[in-house]
Amino acid sequence: MIFRKKSIEVTCSLCANTCATITLSERKPYSLFIEGFLGNATFRVDRLIRNHLIKYYQSKDFHKIQEIDNEYAPFYCKECKMCYCIAHWKYWTVYDDGFYDATRGVCPNGHEKTLDD
Ligand SMILES: [Zn+2]
Ligand SMILES: [Zn+2]
Repeated sequence: MIFRKKSIEVTCSLCANTCATITLSERKPYSLFIEGFLGNATFRVDRLIRNHLIKYYQSKDFHKIQEIDNEYAPFYCKECKMCYCIAHWKYWTVYDDGFYDATRGVCPNGHEKTLDD
């Protein structure tokens, strides 16, 4: 994991690829940017959550991050306790009545989870 300003690169447990680049804005409105996993995602967070997230991303405590919100560490498999880049997830889109509902994925060890919703 490399620290560049407030950006953190999460590397894949199996290859040299980056799972995602995490950035937390330093000013209001506080936002979390997750780039390079399933496209780019932005989440609005409050100050307390932001401070927790900085601490947890830096200590690679992805389990705690997923307890806040699964979507804040979509690349992490809690059964394996590992992070995988998008190339290592087998994923598919779930539609509900013709509308996008979620992206589900299976990690290299067969654990299924929601990657995005
Ligand atoms: Zn797994
Ligand atoms: Zn990988």
